[in-house]
Parts: sequence; C-alpha cells; structure tokens
Amino acid sequence: MAQLKWVVAALSACFTVAASLSPSSAPNVNYTELAQQLSSSASIYLPGSDAFDDVVSRWSNLSVPVANIVVVPGTEEDVVKIVTFANEHSVPFLAANGFHGSVTTLGKMTHGIEIYLSQLSTVEIAQDGKTAKIGGGIRAKNLTDALWAAGKQTGYLGPGLGGGHGWLQGHHGLVSDQYLSFNIVLANGSLTMIDETSDLFWGLKGAGHNFGIVTSVTSKVYDVQYPNYAIETIFFSGDKVEEVYELANELWITNGTSPEGVNNWSYWYFDPTIDPEKPVIVMYIIQEGRDTVDPVHTAPFHQLGPIMSQPKSGTYRDLAAWTGISLADGPCQKTGNANPRFPIYLKAYNPQSQKQIYELFREATTSPGTPFAGSLFMFEGYAMQGVQALADDASAFAYRADNLLVAPLLVYPPGEALNAEARALGNRMRQVLFEGSGQATLNTYVNYAYGDETPAAWYGGDAWRQERLAALKKKYDSTGRFSFYAPIA
Ligand SMILES: Cc1cc2nc3c(=O)[nH]c(=O)nc-3n(C[C@H](O)[C@H](O)[C@H](O)COP(=O)(O)OP(=O)(O)OC[C@H]3O[C@@H](n4cnc5c(N)ncnc54)[C@H](O)[C@@H]3O)c2cc1C
Repeated sequence: MAQLKWVVAALSACFTVAASLSPSSAPNVNYTELAQQLSSSASIYLPGSDAFDDVVSRWSNLSVPVANIVVVPGTEEDVVKIVTFANEHSVPFLAANGFHGSVTTLGKMTHGIEIYLSQLSTVEIAQDGKTAKIGGGIRAKNLTDALWAAGKQTGYLGPGLGGGHGWLQGHHGLVSDQYLSFNIVLANGSLTMIDETSDLFWGLKGAGHNFGIVTSVTSKVYDVQYPNYAIETIFFSGDKVEEVYELANELWITNGTSPEGVNNWSYWYFDPTIDPEKPVIVMYIIQEGRDTVDPVHTAPFHQLGPIMSQPKSGTYRDLAAWTGISLADGPCQKTGNANPRFPIYLKAYNPQSQKQIYELFREATTSPGTPFAGSLFMFEGYAMQGVQALADDASAFAYRADNLLVAPLLVYPPGEALNAEARALGNRMRQVLFEGSGQATLNTYVNYAYGDETPAAWYGGDAWRQERLAALKKKYDSTGRFSFYAPIA
C-alpha cells in the first residue's frame, strides 16, 4: 500500500465496511483494495473519527446524503480509481466540495462513498494571464484570494455547475459562462477533457451535477478593474415593504436595468434590537469603483424614511462579509439546523405580493415560540448585462431572462413535524410570488432548490431543453450514477 493516510476510529487488519450499513446497503466491500490503488497523498476517513464526522456534516441538516466511508483523492487519477472501484462493487458515490448543497434529493443516497475533493484545489494562472486551471475542490475564498494576489478575478466551481451567480456577472456573465474546458471523470470511470467541441459542454454549464466529477476546469480570468467597492446598507421598517420594492423596480428594472457595476440585495429577518415587533427590511446597494455609492441609487431610498443607513467602503474581498456570507458568518456555519430554501426567479417585484409574503414571514418569525425565528428572506438583484449578453440557449442554465432571484430560507431544528411545516410554509410563500409574477412557469435556481420542484423548474420548461438534457444523460450516465443532485428526469 502506498503512504496512504487512514483516519480511523479503531484500526483493524482489514478495512471491510459493512457492519454499520443499513439492510438496503451494498454487500461487504474491502476498501483496503481501493486504498492500495490510490496515490500517497490520498486519505480515507472511516466512521467514528472526528475527520469523518466533520466532512459528512452539511450546511443544511435536512435529507442529507449518507456515506459509510470518505475518500479524499490526492490526484485526478485517484478519482478515476475511486469511481472505477465503486462501479466494480456497485457502490453509490457522491462528490463533496463545500457542503452547501442542500437539495433534498441528496437524501436518496443512503450509503456509499463520499469523494471529498478538498485536495484538488490548485490554481494555475496561464502565462498570458487570461485563463486559469482551477481544481475541482477549490473553495470560493481560496480561489478569490489566490487570484487577487495575482490581480485577477473570476467565479468558482460548486456553484458553477448549476450556473453560478456572482458580483462580476454584470460584466462577464455567470460563473459557468467563464469555463473553457473541464477535466471530468465520467460515469464509466474515464477521465476526459470536455470543451466546446463536445455535446456535453453545454450540459455541464447549468446541469453539471448530473454528468461526472469535475477534477478541474479551465476558466477565463480577468484583470481586477475596480479594486474599490462601496456599499450602503439601508434598514427599513416592514411597514414600508410596498414602497421599498416599488422603488427597487423603478430604479433597477422598469426604467432600464441597473448599471453593470451595481448589485442590490435585500434581506428580511427578525432582529428585535432593531424592531422588537416585526422583521426588518435590509437593503444592500453595492457599487464597484467607488468609495461611496452614487446617490442616484441611494437618495430615493433615503426619501422613504429608513430606520438607519450605513455606508462602508473597501474592496471586492469585503463583499462576502458585508452581505453576511463570509466563512465566519452565520449563514456559512454548519449549525445542525435545517436550512431549506424555496427559490423563484422573477422578472420584477410585485409590491402587493411582497406585502403578502412579508405578512406570512412576519407571522412565521415572530409568533410566540416559533421555531422559524432565525429565518431569512433573500432578494438578489444582480446586474444582468453579462448574463443576458449570451443567447438564451447558450448553456443548460435556463433563466437568463429573469432579473431577480428570490427565496425564503427557513432555519429551524429538523424533525418530522417541523420539516413538513417548513415545506408547506416555504411553498406557500413561493406560490404567492409565483401567482403575483404573471409568469407561466415556475423558474427556480437549481443551486437553491428545495428538492420537490420538477426537472422542468430546475432546468427550464422548454421541451427542447428537456429533450437535450435527457439525451445527454442517456449518453453519458445511462445508469444514473450522478443522480443524487436534482436529477434530470
Ligand atoms: C452561504 C451560501 C452562500 C451561497 N452563495 C452563492 C453565490 O454567491 N452564488 C451562487 O450561485 N450560489 C451560491 N450558493 C449556492 C451554491 O451554489 C450551492 O449550494 C452549491 O451547490 C454549493 O456547492 P458546494 O460545493 O458548496 O456544495 P456540495 O454540497 O459539496 O456540492 C453540491 C453538489 O455539487 C456536486 N459537486 C461539487 N463539486 C463537484 C465537482 N467538482 N464535480 C462534480 N460535482 C461536484 C456535489 O456532488 C453535490 O451534488 C450559496 C449557498 C450558501 C449556503
């Protein structure tokens, strides 16, 4: 055996994992055979170790995938060995990266191998400075920091498989729009390079979880054009919900879209230190290349009479912390809570629907003894020019024409009764937004999906999209080895 690191609770001569498996699980599998094939930098974690527990726990503790063993490949070739071994022994497997994936279909994995990609995290910037080869297990922060040190920026992988929204999309489009090629281990265990000459290239950019394990991507990267960023965070009482979103429509949607360098998000949450009675509306207005946000975007909000307003300035790297999604922030932590979202894409806000969902959210977060008090309603208004510069059929991401990504994020301790209550509540809120939108189809972001939506909602309702994806699935994964994350029908 190579210098393989095992992290085990109790060492035994033979690493046969079966005793703790459920009756539905695979027959005894001798993982020593797999260990012998892997590179010296690979690791295997067995149940009972802290390392194992750490990398099977997830951001949302609802309908989670179950693994009996975690293998950490040290090289792209190791991934080939793991998939081939799993195929030979008919064992299910699932790639893991940042553990933020929360779609409930993941729970269909009841046993098998978790392939934790953390060691595939290199970033190699090409000599011309226009592309970078990025490991399939890179974390957003590590990628941002590595590129920033070289004066570069781009998006990242986990989100990229489902499309990938980010602060730079006004200029460059989605994270997946930057990808030039993928190194991928397919269902048959082959390591293949997929670029624009392959039919699979289109499918990997939006429905990527369905086809393989991406060991690296080559992505366009860009010189940092605007190192400085400004944000203004404006807090409103919930009484003003209709006015706030009428104004957001006016400023950034109906009278022309927001400029490429301006993104706006808003959150609703219950913070009794700001308003002891009801959730607060928190509007983030973010602008690149400035130290204060242009008053064109903020002054009309000031006229609505906010509770308070907080301007800040910094750089691109401050954006995650400013919007509460940095590694240190609550929304990124694994707390043991269930964190389902119920996403819907919208063209514009319907102020009356906003009022209706505010009332539902207020009741859910403030009624006495409620388990949902820590929940969040998210409204993401990214700049859209870069996304909409590409044709609608450019990739498997179906919703380029939609301007807003909206989702309640219900936070609560999981349990059968509360899971059912949350599902009903989240879907009721989404239904109000859907009915108020006038749209004919429910458009959802697969990376935020709850899991009870249809493939048409995840990947677009057009028949040609469904047919194209079904044909790719049949060609590249006919036995459904990659069908735990929002599977194509
Ligand atoms: C706090 C927070 C912030 C977020 N911010 C954003 C954001 O700014 N923009 C955005 O678009 N989305 C965002 N998301 C959503 C995010 O895109 C999805 O949750 C995504 O699935 C996370 O990927 P992951 O690697 O963290 O999760 P994981 O659970 O590790 O992976 C998710 C799925 O992708 C598969 N997968 C991961 N890596 C690979 C690979 N290399 N090859 C093949 N399959 C792979 C896994 O098998 C799994 O099925 C955010 C989510 C959270 C919780």
